[in-house]
Amino acid sequence: MSREKLKKLYVDLPLFPVTSVGSMPKPDYLVQARNDFRKGKISAEELRKQEERATVFWIEKQEELGVDVLVDGEQYRGDMVAYFAENLPGFETGGLVRSYGNRYYHKPIITGAVEWKKPITVEWWRFAQEHTEKPVKGMLTGPYTIMDWSFNEHYADRKATCLALAQMVRHEVEALIEAGCKIVQVDEPALSVRPEELPVALEALHAVMDGLPAYFISHACYGAFENIYPQMLEAPVDNFDLEMSNSGLDMLALFRKDPFRKDLSFGIVDSHSHVVEDVATVQKRLAEALEVLPAESVWLDPDCGLKTRTVEEAIGKLKVIVEAARAARAANIPAG
Ligand SMILES: [Zn+2]
Repeated sequence: MSREKLKKLYVDLPLFPVTSVGSMPKPDYLVQARNDFRKGKISAEELRKQEERATVFWIEKQEELGVDVLVDGEQYRGDMVAYFAENLPGFETGGLVRSYGNRYYHKPIITGAVEWKKPITVEWWRFAQEHTEKPVKGMLTGPYTIMDWSFNEHYADRKATCLALAQMVRHEVEALIEAGCKIVQVDEPALSVRPEELPVALEALHAVMDGLPAYFISHACYGAFENIYPQMLEAPVDNFDLEMSNSGLDMLALFRKDPFRKDLSFGIVDSHSHVVEDVATVQKRLAEALEVLPAESVWLDPDCGLKTRTVEEAIGKLKVIVEAARAARAANIPAG
């Protein structure tokens, strides 16, 4: 339970805090602006204006819906790994490779020592935070995932690459904290891809987080968690953000055997489906979760980033989560 830590950081959250994983769909005007920018029709400055407009839209929308811990929506990012690679010495942009389904991204190539020269995400975090009183999460991609999703032509092996990237990510975390960020999310969607490398991923997360005054969340997409659970609980994070709904809550069976000892951002709507769940469905999932998890430890959010949904679907999904959270708060008297 990490309520104590949040208190120390002066972050006051209700029971069942509602958040989201990170990415939001881009409104039509921003999709248009990104296309125009690629074709040279508008300037970087003009694109930036539209990115800011979309970021403000999502901050205001999350507030209006009643989300408790906000995200900036990543309106300025394409792919989560390529974004960091484009901003770091040591990386070059590689050719297009397929990630999931029919989505393609430029797989970065590490051709030299990866160096952190200046903050990458702080300016956008600050911009988003200036538009709300609610806490905005700092959003980073974790060292293991950046390593796994890049080609390495410089470091000796995967572990050396991962640990070098961890130093870079730590600098970015420090810069976010320095700017006033209290909740930092370090995404590791590749966490369960190679169970034999879990110790490397954990060592890297320690290198990123140890001794730093922030509440840490890590999002991992659905994978073969049965191969890394309960060992993954050794990660120095306060909160794991996991896809639960997409797989029919099957991870709850693992938690029954070995209790989940951290806070859990419980993916309670399927972010891969166009269908917006009704409140009853979300409430039923939460009730099942609470058979296994202490209420105090449960946060609620969509399974994964919402960037592949339409704006209306994303809003619909967040709305239904907030409704379910409010009903559950009314029904659960918080301890202490
Ligand atoms: Zn995910």
